[in-house]
Amino acid sequence: MTEMPGMVRTVLGDIPPEHLGVCDAHDHLFLRSPMLPGQELDDPAAALGELTAFAAAGGNAVAQWTPWGMGRRMADLPELSRRSGTHIVAATGLHQARHYDAAELARLRDSLAEMFVHELTEAETRAGMIKVAGAFHHLDHHTRHVMAAAAHAHHATDAPIGIHLEGGTAALDALDVLCGTHGVAPHRVLLGHVHRFPDPAIHRQAAETGAFLVFDGPSRAHHGTDWRLMDSLAALVDAGHAHQVLLGGDTVTANARSTADGPGMSFLLTGLRPRVERELGADVATAIFVRNPARAFAVNWRDTLH
Ligand SMILES: [Zn+2]
Repeated sequence: MTEMPGMVRTVLGDIPPEHLGVCDAHDHLFLRSPMLPGQELDDPAAALGELTAFAAAGGNAVAQWTPWGMGRRMADLPELSRRSGTHIVAATGLHQARHYDAAELARLRDSLAEMFVHELTEAETRAGMIKVAGAFHHLDHHTRHVMAAAAHAHHATDAPIGIHLEGGTAALDALDVLCGTHGVAPHRVLLGHVHRFPDPAIHRQAAETGAFLVFDGPSRAHHGTDWRLMDSLAALVDAGHAHQVLLGGDTVTANARSTADGPGMSFLLTGLRPRVERELGADVATAIFVRNPARAFAVNWRDTLH
């Protein structure tokens, strides 16, 4: 079966995947959580500064994985996209339960799938992906419930599902639930934070299903595994999975921006891309930064006719 290339849903509308360009496949312009007190990313001017620096380094697009209820400032994204000249893909979905008020979660519990579909297809500024989150080496009740809703929304829209894997763990469990139980095609699943658990056998097993593996860092909070990044990428490339690897900056605090203490979004292009080019070749670099994100975020939207 040949699949149509689909369209990438950005905050300014749908674009053909080949227009996406050089992409930071997992990052945050805005983020707020009770788990990160005093570290909120909530300043549109600072977000514009970071995006502008990224664009100056050659960046064309960013996927913001901030889900519902975590200060993603959806209404600010179109203007930021216009002013910086970068495409922005926004997210719906839900993070782990600890990032929310329990009463609010309880209220939403039975309408999650409906809310995700609304945000993907009807909201004024639309999301282009669904974010879910696992737990450390397991999937808890909340995760399973959110994954079921995400799978439902995926089947209704074809939107990709990006997973925050806690410490990079439980990748195979997440694939088992989403793809095994709920019938999501593996290539519609983006496994986030896999660099935080650099087990080559797990990476390879996950890649063999057809899922995308998102190496999103380097991150100040998780730098302990940064030095394994190139080995992890090389192992996947050697095993024939270069077309399933994505890179992102995953900037989660104001301090970690390139306009503050760094490394921020632009380091992906000033620091990591030259290394990928040197060690794995220019074609692999183009796959990771351009071709793979174009495929990962291209969707055969079921709500509209193009
Ligand atoms: Zn993130």
